[in-house]
Amino acid sequence: MKILILGSGGREHAFCWKISQSSLCSKLFIAPGNAGTAAFGQNIEIDINDFLAVKAICISNQIDMVVVGPEEPLVKGIYDFFKNDYDLKDIIITGPSKSGAQLEGSKAFAKSFMEKYYIPTARYKEFDASNFNEGLQYIQNHPLPIVLKADGLAAGKGVIICQNYVEALSEFELMIQQSKFGDAGKKVVVEEFLDGIELSVFVLTDGKNYVLLPEAKDYKKICEGDKGLNTGGMGAISPVPFATDHFMKKVTEKIIEPTIEGLQKEEIDYKGFIFFGLIKVDEEPMVIEYNCRMGDPETEVVLIRLENDLVELLVAMDQEKLDEQEIKIEKNNAVTIVAVSGGYPEEYKKGLPVNLLYLENPEARKHIDNGEGAIVFHAGTKILGDQIVTNGGRVFAVSAMAEGLGDAIELSKTILEQIYFDGIYFRGDIGYEFVD
Ligand code: AMP
Repeated sequence: MKILILGSGGREHAFCWKISQSSLCSKLFIAPGNAGTAAFGQNIEIDINDFLAVKAICISNQIDMVVVGPEEPLVKGIYDFFKNDYDLKDIIITGPSKSGAQLEGSKAFAKSFMEKYYIPTARYKEFDASNFNEGLQYIQNHPLPIVLKADGLAAGKGVIICQNYVEALSEFELMIQQSKFGDAGKKVVVEEFLDGIELSVFVLTDGKNYVLLPEAKDYKKICEGDKGLNTGGMGAISPVPFATDHFMKKVTEKIIEPTIEGLQKEEIDYKGFIFFGLIKVDEEPMVIEYNCRMGDPETEVVLIRLENDLVELLVAMDQEKLDEQEIKIEKNNAVTIVAVSGGYPEEYKKGLPVNLLYLENPEARKHIDNGEGAIVFHAGTKILGDQIVTNGGRVFAVSAMAEGLGDAIELSKTILEQIYFDGIYFRGDIGYEFVD
């Protein structure tokens, strides 16, 4: 099969790495890709939200399968575009449909879906310009902290946790009256703060059946000790020690299965990944958010633990036969640690030359070339002439696997210390709660 992967981050490099191992994959294309994905297939420079440009690539390269990395094309309806196009309708595409992608694209939709299907989540109310004053009243009578969420996609910045009423009222006003997040914030979900520890659970569903992929925990803050600004993700681990069989049984019964049943009852076409952003509160799982695609950097630990052929799973998804698939998971501990450019998540430079010193170090290379536990996934990189340069805030995700989480972390750090670009920074404490 000729397979096209859409996206340009560490997640997409991990998809390339995994998919290229499948005997079902004859050729890989990545749009737009990065310097790492170029080693697995042909990078094609297009805007992936321009569906006609995606169509042109599919036709000219006789693509059989499209794997969509980020949420934006899904929320904009790329799945429906394919299914409604005579030339594209038979191509396997990881969905969901536009209506299913609302689970991520509209917080208000996700909340009312959860309420309707009794899926545990924080209590909430939604407001817009039409009931703005009622919203001010609601906030003033709500216990602190209070969580405000822009309804639509806001580049990961649309959630504000307010510790006092002055801040909450002013942010509420900024979102609804001053369009702080543009149209994404014209509607606001106001919800109670949940106090607990978070984890991410992933399934692949064909709309009726699903398979459970390895869970992960990501680290969002820029500084060690979970301090500082939020980022796209500074690292992740899998498995998550507190995701015991007992806890995961509750996740399955109270969250995953009601979600899949709800999608069926709503007649929502959903063939793709569901990412459940969960929080454990007093031993009970609750949903913080849904995403309609895999996470980044979680994919960089999830896929290295998945032993199944991913293309085979995606074909079974398309044929609605996921019930015939049995997931096999590597028992070892995986970590990924993200190297970012100085200044990220605020202003940072691009175009900095990258030096991969480990390539000249036989000891370090052994781990990577012989599959002895480490993989360097590129994120914000590109090739300029014959030089790799930085092309984003998150530049590499170095994944490693070992029997013990501590050893996996040490291995990842050993490789990271042999990657150089001006201003490189990574957190040294990913997984800190779970190692001595
Ligand atoms: P979201 O975009 O919904 O994932 O929110 C981003 C982050 O904000 C989450 O990963 C949580 O850490 C935090 N968050 C969101 N909603 C809540 C909540 N109701 N209670 C506590 N933390 C929350």
